[in-house]
Amino acid sequence: MRCDVLEMRPEGIYCPGGDFFVDPRGSVPRAVITHAHSDHARSGHGHYLCANSCKPLLRVRLGASASIESIPYGDSIQIGDARVSFHPAGHILGSAQIRIEVKGEVWVVSGDYKPQADRTCEAFELVKCHGFISECTFGLPVYKWPEEELIHQQVNQWWKANAEDDRPSLIFAYSLGKAQRILAGLESGIGKIFAHSAVCSFLEHYKSAGVDLPSVIKLGDKEKEHFGGSMIVAPPAVEDSRWAQRIRNCRKGFASGWMSIRGARRRRNVDRGFVLSDHADWPGLLEVIKGTEAEVVKLTHGNGDVLARYLQEMGINASVLNESFYVREEES
Ligand SMILES: [Zn+2]
Ligand SMILES: [Zn+2]
Repeated sequence: MRCDVLEMRPEGIYCPGGDFFVDPRGSVPRAVITHAHSDHARSGHGHYLCANSCKPLLRVRLGASASIESIPYGDSIQIGDARVSFHPAGHILGSAQIRIEVKGEVWVVSGDYKPQADRTCEAFELVKCHGFISECTFGLPVYKWPEEELIHQQVNQWWKANAEDDRPSLIFAYSLGKAQRILAGLESGIGKIFAHSAVCSFLEHYKSAGVDLPSVIKLGDKEKEHFGGSMIVAPPAVEDSRWAQRIRNCRKGFASGWMSIRGARRRRNVDRGFVLSDHADWPGLLEVIKGTEAEVVKLTHGNGDVLARYLQEMGINASVLNESFYVREEES
């Protein structure tokens, strides 16, 4: 990547004017963080800067000793020659696009984002810029998300049907963001709601941010009650664990954008897939990238070749940014 504002280094995206990294790996003195998912918010850095509502989630991730500073969305802070501000990315609570301005040139690092509705986080804000570093996790035309409300209805109908058979519903969703989004859509009249402790560790911060959530019972390792008719929300990582195995006779669901692809549900060995993603779909990516009016677009977080070609045909200078250190996220 060649521009005056940002450059690529082994640790990640670097701003020479402000001497800081965005979502770096390794160990750097100053990290500016888009959001609290583990492939963006890594421990080991000297100092962290994030948006206000990201801070408590980052604290859960990094522990008590990390040095974390935060500012409100829209406020800017001068770091060396760079003016830095955070703007809602609509991905999870506290997620931000980072706007960096150096000598009149503006770049925005999107982090992960989605312009679609999500009742558990701040709505995406479009930021005009000269250069845009965009994620493209779902950068193919086949990815097009149904309305969020429709997915919540599907989950509730599935839960209700399982409850009528006196069977538990066990739904897998990434512990930060997706799980809270599933919880926020549940009709609590149907039955009891349980969640894995990894999901519960973030709940109080969602509630204090004003997100409306039903009451949830934390499910530890030991309880062996009858779960018939209950909804249990758990991260995908516990799927084959003893924690999940003691929930007998359950029906399993999985919430992810990948569920829109034929065969994904079978591969995951679940009864039901729900197409709920925290990332932009293909129309969302196009809408945002065009909306930024960026002349230069760098794509990360996915196979960006198809999208880069599509944008080039529209006259945008688009290319794939080689960032092998990003792992594909479970939460997608
Ligand atoms: Zn993320
Ligand atoms: Zn990510």
